[in-house]
Amino acid sequence: MGILEDVVLNARSAVDSVSKKAGKVLDMSKLAIAAADIKTEISRKYEILGRVVYEENTTDKDYRKSIRELIDKITELKAQLEEVNATIENAKQKIKCPACDAFNAKGSVFCNKCGEKLPTAEKNDISPDDMIDFAEDNFEDDDIGL
Ligand SMILES: [Zn+2]
Repeated sequence: MGILEDVVLNARSAVDSVSKKAGKVLDMSKLAIAAADIKTEISRKYEILGRVVYEENTTDKDYRKSIRELIDKITELKAQLEEVNATIENAKQKIKCPACDAFNAKGSVFCNKCGEKLPTAEKNDISPDDMIDFAEDNFEDDDIGL
């Protein structure tokens, strides 16, 4: 196996583990890092794809298989990025109770824990610290550690 194929096949192991966890953890900062990692990985894949296409067109070597694999991985990474971004959007829409700090679903009018009237979602932009609280309240330690 050539160096090029090696790079293609091994480049995304880190992204794999991050995106698998991202679905479970509503920790804003980690999700933001996961999204940034995936974006970087997509950029890298595009760069490698450009090199492979260049090689394909300037040498006798046949890189069609590598090109196909790279395109498939870029498509897969884009789907993962969408998933992480959707999770971030979903998390942002939780409403934090001003009285007891419980997190409530978007659209809730009263807190489901203490009954306090909740602020409207637009006015309640949850900070990264709040998201960490939320993650700690709702997930086991194993889920949170990336
Ligand atoms: Zn409450």
